[in-house]
Amino acid sequence: MASFDSLWIWEDERIRKRLSWYLGVSINKYPAKYLICKRIPAEFNAEQEEKELWSIHQNCAKKFQEIWKGIKNGELRLNELEVASQSFLDLKVELVQRMVRHCNFCRWNCRINRIEERKTGTCQLGRISRVSTYFHHMGEELPIRGRKGSGTIFFTSCNMRCGFCQNGDISKDKDNGIIISPRQLAMMMWELRVEGCHNVNLVGGEPTIHLHTIVEAINHLDRINPTPEELQYIWCVKSDYFYTFRRNFSDATHQGIINVPVLWNSNMFMSLETLYILRELVDIWLPDFKFGNDKCSLRLARTPWYWDTVSRNHKLIYDWGEDIIIRHLVMPNHVECCTKPILEWISKNMPDVPINVMDQYRPECFADPTSPSFDHKLSDIARRPTPREIIEAYSYAKKLGLNFESISWEKNVTGLKLI
Ligand code: SF4
Repeated sequence: MASFDSLWIWEDERIRKRLSWYLGVSINKYPAKYLICKRIPAEFNAEQEEKELWSIHQNCAKKFQEIWKGIKNGELRLNELEVASQSFLDLKVELVQRMVRHCNFCRWNCRINRIEERKTGTCQLGRISRVSTYFHHMGEELPIRGRKGSGTIFFTSCNMRCGFCQNGDISKDKDNGIIISPRQLAMMMWELRVEGCHNVNLVGGEPTIHLHTIVEAINHLDRINPTPEELQYIWCVKSDYFYTFRRNFSDATHQGIINVPVLWNSNMFMSLETLYILRELVDIWLPDFKFGNDKCSLRLARTPWYWDTVSRNHKLIYDWGEDIIIRHLVMPNHVECCTKPILEWISKNMPDVPINVMDQYRPECFADPTSPSFDHKLSDIARRPTPREIIEAYSYAKKLGLNFESISWEKNVTGLKLI
C-alpha cells in the first residue's frame, strides 16, 4: 500500500504547512509530544499544593518548547534525551488527579469531587470512564483517515446538550460501552496504532470530561505490552476485529518506541487548565466551532458562555502554533447567525487554518421530526440545509479567503462545490 504522506492532499502546500508536525509524527519522522514530556524531569511530591504544582508545570512547559523546537528543526533527536525518573507527564497525571477532585475540566467548573462524592456535574460522570466503541474510522477528513483509518475511541457522555447531536447514542447515554482503566485505554491506543492507524482520535461525546483517564493512559503508552487475556476484554467494543491480524510494529514506532499522534476531537468547551495540560500532549486538534453566538448555543445546546469560551480556546491553540483542522457544521436557518460570524472570526484570528465547512447536517435526536422525542422548539433545525444554504456558506468562506476547499470538497456528501 502507498504511504500516508504520498496522499494527494499533502500536495496542497497550505495543508501540508499547517499540519507538518502531525504528518511528521504520523510517519514516525518526529516523536509524539508525549514522548518528549517523558524526557523532561519534574521535581514534585504528593504533599505539595496544587498551586505549586502549576508553577512547576509552567517551568516544564518552557523546557518543552525549547526541546520541541529543537526536534522540529532537526537539531535534537529523542534518543539524545534520557527518560526522566519523574517526568513532566507524571506531573500532568498528578495535576489531573487533583483537578478531578474539584472538577474544573470544562467551563461548567462544577467544582465537585468526582472521586469521592456521589453528586455529579453537567457531564453526569464520576471517576469512571467508559468507551462505547473503538475502530479504524474511514469517514474522517482525508489527512485524518488517510489510507488505514483514524484510530477513533468513542468515550461516553458529554458536557454540552446539543439537541441535534449526531452521536446521540453515545453522548446521551453515559452508561453505554465498557468501563475502562487508564491501562485498558492505553491498550486500545496501542492496538489501533500497531494495526496501522495514522493517529489516535479521542472523541465522544467529549474527551475533555475523561481527562484524568486519558492523561494517565498516555503515560502508560510507551510501556504497554498487553496480554491476549487483557485484549479479550477491550475487544468486546472493537468493531473491526479483523485488523488485529494485520499488526506491524515497525510502522508504529519512533526509535523503537511506540509513537502515535494524539488527536483531540472536541467541542472545545474546556477550561484553561485543561488546555494547559493538553498543550504538550496533543499533536493535532480537531475542534468543532458550532455556534456564532450564545443565544443559539443556549437554545440548541443548553450551553451558556459558549462564544467566549470556545473562541478563546481556538485562539490560544492557534497562537501556540498547534496543528489544527476546524470543523463547522452548516445548520439550516443558521447561516447568518452562526456560520458567517464564525467564518469571519476565523478569518480575523486564525486566517490560514484548514477548515472543514461541513454539509452533512441531518436532523437527529430532539431535532428529528420523525422521532417521538422531537422538540418543537428545534423546528428551525428539523431539516437538512438547502443547497442554497450550503453554497452560501462556501461562497462566504471563499470571499474571506479561508483555507477550506481541499478539506471540505473531498468530504462533502451533497456533491455541491463552488465552480
Ligand atoms: S467535566 Fe465539566 S461538566 Fe463534568 S464535572 Fe467537570 S466541570 Fe462539570
